[in-house]
Amino acid sequence: MASTQLMEKILFGVAKQWIAGNTIDDALSAGQNSYKNGMGVIINKLGEYHTSKNLIENTISEYKTVMESFRKWKVSGAISVKPTQIGLMKSKKECLMNFEALINSATKSQSFVWIDMESSDHTDETIQIYENLLARYERLGIAIQANLLRSEGDLADLLSIGGKIRLVKGAYREDSNVAFKSKQKVDQNYLRLMSILFESGNEFGIATHDGAMISSAVALAKKYEKKFEFQMLRGIRDELKPVLIKKGFSLSEYIPYGTNWLPYSIRRLKERKRNILLLGSSFLQQKAKPLGI
Ligand SMILES: Cc1cc2nc3c(=O)[nH]c(=O)nc-3n(C[C@H](O)[C@H](O)[C@H](O)COP(=O)(O)OP(=O)(O)OC[C@H]3O[C@@H](n4cnc5c(N)ncnc54)[C@H](O)[C@@H]3O)c2cc1C
Repeated sequence: MASTQLMEKILFGVAKQWIAGNTIDDALSAGQNSYKNGMGVIINKLGEYHTSKNLIENTISEYKTVMESFRKWKVSGAISVKPTQIGLMKSKKECLMNFEALINSATKSQSFVWIDMESSDHTDETIQIYENLLARYERLGIAIQANLLRSEGDLADLLSIGGKIRLVKGAYREDSNVAFKSKQKVDQNYLRLMSILFESGNEFGIATHDGAMISSAVALAKKYEKKFEFQMLRGIRDELKPVLIKKGFSLSEYIPYGTNWLPYSIRRLKERKRNILLLGSSFLQQKAKPLGI
């Protein structure tokens, strides 16, 4: 086996815990399972930075099929869309138009639509698209990244128009002129933005696997009666999810599917040293296997 193929096979071996499978049915089936276990479901089609018309149209069409299928699969679901997978690489106008098409479909199935936040060069346009759409569709949320210096201002602006926020730490490598670089500073800002959400927001998502952030949210939830949910990625902190549900918290699982699994999986790998070690040991095991077995 060529070494790049072997590397890809090993990487996929580690990555598949985070991904539902290649097809829409794989995603819906994983979603149905999560739903049976008391979780809400947020489905994301993998893929980003699309420039091909075909790829963009196919992505939109798949998201529509996912939303139309929620009822059949008996799942209370949302989709989560990256602006660069539906046209932002071409223009803000095209991306907005494509989100409008998705929202028309979401209106029919009463589905919630989340807008993922990508790297900081897309933040302004993503927020502008969100503000434009929120005026017409309420069941719409946007991710805000605690690692960005600008996020406190963005949060205030978005809350002033009734924005529905998913608070994340931020998954993209950013420069120090726009972002907090240390885990400690990002965590501090996450806690600060989370307090603002509990004080002034409603219907928000606390999207993290970090026990310290989750404990603070649990404490804040006792003080403020707000409608919020925890959100976690498929395959991460699976032991904690039922514990939070048993305590009466709402929790949604973000379920990616599709063949374009590499960039998403690399971000997950980088988030945790132990995952890199797992990858290293899988690689060594494969290397040690005699040929042909
Ligand atoms: C529902 C959801 C949606 C998201 N949407 C976006 C988005 O739109 N834009 C964006 O930039 N980012 C998004 N993210 C990713 C986010 O920004 C972080 O990169 C990611 O959640 C890791 O940060 P953390 O809060 O879990 O804390 P970290 O500080 O990374 O981790 C804290 C602890 O959580 C556990 N943990 C974290 N990651 C892993 C892992 N991969 N495997 C096993 N354990 C782990 C470990 O115990 C770790 O010590 C999303 C995350 C979630 C959960």
